[in-house]
Amino acid sequence: MSATVIDGFSVAASVRARVAESVAALKAKGTHACLAVVLVGEDPASVSYVTGKAKALAEVGMLDRSLHLPASTTESELLAIVDGLNADPSVHGILVQLPLPKHIDENRVIMKIDPAKDVDGFHPVSVGNMVIGRPGFLPCTPHGVMVLLEEAGIETRGRHAVVVGRSNIVGKPVAILLANRKYNATVTVCHTGTKDLASFTRQADILVAAAGKPRMITADMIKPGAAVIDVGVNRVEDPTAKKGYRLVGDVDFVPACEVASFITPVPRGVGPMTIAMLMENTLLSARRAAGEE
Ligand code: NDP
Repeated sequence: MSATVIDGFSVAASVRARVAESVAALKAKGTHACLAVVLVGEDPASVSYVTGKAKALAEVGMLDRSLHLPASTTESELLAIVDGLNADPSVHGILVQLPLPKHIDENRVIMKIDPAKDVDGFHPVSVGNMVIGRPGFLPCTPHGVMVLLEEAGIETRGRHAVVVGRSNIVGKPVAILLANRKYNATVTVCHTGTKDLASFTRQADILVAAAGKPRMITADMIKPGAAVIDVGVNRVEDPTAKKGYRLVGDVDFVPACEVASFITPVPRGVGPMTIAMLMENTLLSARRAAGEE
């Protein structure tokens, strides 16, 4: 069997194109959707994510009120900046890029963001709404996983989904969403305390890998015909690559293609969906501010 490779890059491009149309329509009615991404310090991965977000904002025609603050910014200075963005009606979404420098309490900063502008979906109010199935902002990467499943036509209802990873930003929300009535899957969550991981992954009709361990899911851990969603993004050394490394997922991609029915690649799988869903959440927030939702 050779799996169908789900092209997250093109699904994300069509989400962004749809968002761009709605942004223009909303702007014509007087509301210009606007996101503020707050970056503190110079962490190279964060700088690169923030650059990607700025590019996407320009592409969909949203206003970009992003701030790049020095690593020496104090917690109280950052909280005051978030307060200012909360109070500014022209800003519809606020995202504080994580991780923050060690002297700043991330939870305190996340809690400070007005839930009405929490387009990252990390505020406990957003998490609570997701858990009880109320409308709100879904976290971007898990939401992106759901959209990829839908776009690929993968049935979730009545299927057994196994999620490897239980972080607050990926594993747990993916498991919660899959178990919601809308998706109606039966969900198993695996983590480092799981004994005999392969015995669980082999039962998965839908396998979501979000452990952050390069190629840990080998072909023999996959049920024949399963849909495999690889959230992992890991750097592995590669002297032949220009940067000296390349990105691989948590799934051993080439052999896995021979067993799975659907699979997402890394890169160009789940990754591009994260920013696309951030654009969608910001649009949703702007629509709400304009009284359209
Ligand atoms: P975390 O490190 O926060 O969580 C990893 C989870 O995987 C933990 O729950 C951990 O278990 C579990 N885990 C780790 N090793 C094993 C193992 N050997 N067996 C079973 N479970 C294991 O990572 P994140 O959730 O933040 O990210 C996961 C991956 O997704 C990373 O590669 C990250 O780069 C990528 N990512 C990609 C995004 C995208 O846009 N595509 C966005 C966000 C993340 P325990 O809880 O017991 O420690």
